[in-house]
Amino acid sequence: FVYRTIRQSLTDMEDMFGLLAVPLEVDDKDEARPLKLAHGEVAFEGVNFSYEERRSILHDVTFSVPSGKTVAIVGPSGAGKSTVVQILARFYDLSDGEMELGGQPAEDFTRHEWARAVSVVTQEPVLFSGTVAENIAYGGCGAWSRDDVERAARAANAHEFIRELPDGYDTVLGEGGDIQLSGGQRQRVAIARALLKDAPVLVLDEATSALDSQSEALVQEALARLQEGRAVVVVAHRLSTVVGADEVVVLEGGAVRERGAHAELVARGGLYASLVNAQHLVVSGM
Ligand code: ATP
Repeated sequence: FVYRTIRQSLTDMEDMFGLLAVPLEVDDKDEARPLKLAHGEVAFEGVNFSYEERRSILHDVTFSVPSGKTVAIVGPSGAGKSTVVQILARFYDLSDGEMELGGQPAEDFTRHEWARAVSVVTQEPVLFSGTVAENIAYGGCGAWSRDDVERAARAANAHEFIRELPDGYDTVLGEGGDIQLSGGQRQRVAIARALLKDAPVLVLDEATSALDSQSEALVQEALARLQEGRAVVVVAHRLSTVVGADEVVVLEGGAVRERGAHAELVARGGLYASLVNAQHLVVSGM
């Protein structure tokens, strides 16, 4: 029964992510082959992309994010920010140009290897039907003990609320259960999952609306832990994020219009400065 439940959960995940081509079962060969990454740098080189023919969405987008650095992507609605996330998650292939990880083209990695190397945490994290522990362990791509899961949950500021659920880590979430987690709790489960997975690259789609201030603070603290030592690409909606980023990449109409540190871009008085002035970025409560 347990096996069937897990199997079904994985099937749900496949459906949700539309990744039916991806073998989610643990592939022994893949598992045994360590990721040969010289470094965790992720880069776009002259990336062009369209979802459908004749309507080009990204034009010649170039940026790179070394290990331990954060690049914030900002831009008006429709600029292509979410599209960059989808491409980093490898949900789509490029029309032209190159995406690289550790200096190697994305095509050199199987999708499974890519998923191990790149964690994606979105503002609406997908939890599948299964227990809390299974939801966290799914990110691990390996066999994880309850201790590992708990350690990740603690670092994600999730342990306290999980302990108070009716069956703790064995509480069933999703369709199988009637427990509804709050937005901030779901995000912390997703952060725990990413911490356990420990991928060198983190792609974050920051929440647009603020959670209640206590939950917000817990999420922000957990995110800060998750970002440590990784190459981070964050679609930024908060002023605190762009101020703290090593580089801000300003997209408009699918192209890079400006790039630089926050202060530099404000001083330039261009598109970024006008976005900041128009309070396009939320001042978070921290
Ligand atoms: P927002 O801040 O409003 O979320 P964004 O900067 O994330 O915007 P994208 O969602 O990347 O922008 O959209 C960029 C362009 O791509 C838009 O013109 C959008 O209509 C188009 N687009 C997005 N997703 C798809 C899709 N699945 N199929 C076709 N076109 C799409």
